[in-house]
Amino acid sequence: AKASGRACHEVFDTEMHTRVVNLLQLENDLRRAVEHQEFLLYYQPIVALATGKMMGFEALVRWQHPEQGIVSPVKFVPMAEETGLIIPLGQWVLREACRQMKAWHTAFPDQPPLSISVNLSSRQFSQPSLIKQIRQILDDTELEAHHLKLEITESAIMENPESAMDMMLQLKAMGIQLSADDFGTGYSSLGYLYRFPMDLLKIDRSFISRVDVDGEKLELVKTIITLSWNLGMDVVAEGVETTKQLAQLKALKCEYAQGYLFSKPVCSADAEKLIRADHPF
Ligand code: C2E
Ligand code: CA
Ligand code: CA
Ligand code: CA
Repeated sequence: AKASGRACHEVFDTEMHTRVVNLLQLENDLRRAVEHQEFLLYYQPIVALATGKMMGFEALVRWQHPEQGIVSPVKFVPMAEETGLIIPLGQWVLREACRQMKAWHTAFPDQPPLSISVNLSSRQFSQPSLIKQIRQILDDTELEAHHLKLEITESAIMENPESAMDMMLQLKAMGIQLSADDFGTGYSSLGYLYRFPMDLLKIDRSFISRVDVDGEKLELVKTIITLSWNLGMDVVAEGVETTKQLAQLKALKCEYAQGYLFSKPVCSADAEKLIRADHPF
């Protein structure tokens, strides 16, 4: 028993060692990636359910790794947040998203202008210089502020509610719209909605993925939608994958939806094809 105990211990050590080495490697790679700008944006359509028309895109970052190919943000955004690399990365994302959307507005002047939604990490959101940076980006790219939506999670707000409120009021004063991202996954979801000036509420995929099989989830989604309206917010359902989910959301008069049923996040060339298509969905 002793021998096997030690063997087990050694395996554990080796695994730990490998994990630490991998993490250090990732941090190293990420640092280099930020320096060399190895990132690109994918775009996922957000669709108005009453008309079937696109309201805009959510910009989602990807890492074009020299050996591993396209890497998902799930694999590197947490590390970028821990190391602070999310600050330069997030800046790049904001600038690129605004630049691209302005380019589309210019290229398709006869279409109603689409909006661009950008995710803000809590680390970015706690930087007072963010306001100045965003103002600069809007100036440089000439994107009108009301076409930019910033997606903020409850945890980012709750880390420092006072400064969050201050930031949000300044962003609102600039004409930028604010979305409550991943709604329903936090702890104080209701309380923070009442207190903070949000324009849009995004119901998390974990609710939507079961509305077609789980009556309780459907009731919850219905309640969230009614609440949003009472607070003057529009609703986006995230992660819509089936026609049944879509039908239920339409029946509940949910304004917008996003999900694989319409389109996965796509590269800018494919996003442009969706803009060109008259009725892509
Ligand atoms: P999120 O902000 O909740 O973004 C939505 C995620 O759900 C995206 O994953 C999208 O591809 C995925 N999704 C959309 N529709 C469906 C669906 O119908 N089914 C399923 N299974 N998934 C769907 P993605 O692109 O891998 O991004 C993951 C997360 O990484 C994002 O979650 C966000 O928290 C973070 N992230 C992505 N880009 C950025 C960024 O530029 N900055 C920051 N701070 N975080 C980002
Ligand atoms: Ca988001
Ligand atoms: Ca989300
Ligand atoms: Ca999410």
